[in-house]
Amino acid sequence: MSHEAISVFDMFKIGVGPSSSHTLGPWRAAQLFLKSLEEKNLIREVTSLEVLLYGSLAKTGKGHGTDIAVLLGLNGYDPVTFDVDLIEARINDIKEIKKIVLGGVHEIDFDPDEDIEFLFTESLPYHPNALTFLATISNGDHIAESYYSIGGGFVKKEGEQGNAASEVILPFPINDADELLHWCMKTGLNISEVVLENENTWRSEKETRQGLLKIWQVMKDCMYRGSHTSGTLPGGLNVRRRAAQLNKKLVRDQYYTDFESWIHAIKSGGNDFKYTLDWVSCFALAVNEENASFGRVVTAPTNGAAGVIPAVLAYYIIFCEGNTEEKIIQFLLTAAEVGSIFKKGATISAAMGGCQAEIGVSSSMAAAALTECLGGTQRQALMAAEIAMEHHLGMTCDPIGGLVQIPCIERNTMGAIKAITACQLALQSAPDYARVSLDGVIKTMWDTAMDMNSKYKETADGGLAINIPLSLSEC
Ligand code: SF4
Repeated sequence: MSHEAISVFDMFKIGVGPSSSHTLGPWRAAQLFLKSLEEKNLIREVTSLEVLLYGSLAKTGKGHGTDIAVLLGLNGYDPVTFDVDLIEARINDIKEIKKIVLGGVHEIDFDPDEDIEFLFTESLPYHPNALTFLATISNGDHIAESYYSIGGGFVKKEGEQGNAASEVILPFPINDADELLHWCMKTGLNISEVVLENENTWRSEKETRQGLLKIWQVMKDCMYRGSHTSGTLPGGLNVRRRAAQLNKKLVRDQYYTDFESWIHAIKSGGNDFKYTLDWVSCFALAVNEENASFGRVVTAPTNGAAGVIPAVLAYYIIFCEGNTEEKIIQFLLTAAEVGSIFKKGATISAAMGGCQAEIGVSSSMAAAALTECLGGTQRQALMAAEIAMEHHLGMTCDPIGGLVQIPCIERNTMGAIKAITACQLALQSAPDYARVSLDGVIKTMWDTAMDMNSKYKETADGGLAINIPLSLSEC
């Protein structure tokens, strides 16, 4: 049996909001298309270009900034490093002059309103999130390449099997929870230790540790920024940001200039249930308000669900005394492995499986990580992951206006709290008596995804998206 190798850095990717599948994925697809042109030595030969967005990318692409992501990607910008504060100005500039600079080296005429087509009624067979780049080159030839944004920022080119990263041989090949448990039992290692051994295949342990601390740094920056930024979210829904208001209330109007002094102050407020609950909500709201504002976030495993893992990790650090680099690394390694098992056995794409594939998976990842960090056994960690997903099964994706705001932002608070509850339940239980396994719930999630009506799969054609009448301005 072949084993797909997914690294922790495939699951946690630094990017730009609001959507991993509709923003980060298309951005990456544009970069891959440029790379393909470059390999053929053709970037400077392009005379015109059209971009076709299909299916879910067309239906909710405007709200998710798919066109913006494609434009920035085609201009040679990288989602990890591009200054998010410059997005609006750069896009306005492109729209005004109607030109792009392919890969930053070759200028062509490009009118985003004409040359990016939203094909609302068409889709490509492999995945609902598809886009095609159609380039004409100087000798009159045409080049057409299609890409699929398959969730969590992962991108697949039409006709390509796997990728180099997934073809490596790992010491502990894992496709499902049973195999993960097998390696844990055989070696006596806990989940994060098994994952770290696998990560050593790609890079040194030191690099993995540094990379994970960098991921946490971006999460922290995002939480801090979101908790200190007021105003209204972009997109026309006029959703007011709430994290900053909540933060202000909880810290009694005090201002802390950096993350460390801020969490020190939070810690000193004790651990009353409602106080803790308010903070977990504040962290999750903060991240997803940043995400909705085209801010810098970490996909975990997606952008729409980016707040769950930082909120639960911050809960662990502040309220469970887990503030050591070692524990933070352990948390992220465990969470990533659970996410990759979901990706292999089901999906982390809302366009395939609805919101159970986003918030459900992130909650499950966080539940397992918290359980391992709090001293639970490997079986208890997997049990916690199972419990968290079991109570997200069937959750649909119906973002109002196609924006990652309602219900998405609040939904992260729910995912975080369910993760903490699932962890506590697992820590107080004997996994031997559990009737539902993690693999069983992953299969159920996939079956449910297959049965789910397509209007609940990131199309904004059903649910809240059609029952809450809001007139959106074109933007
Ligand atoms: S409803 Fe869930 S899956 Fe859909 S966009 Fe929002 S967070 Fe993502």
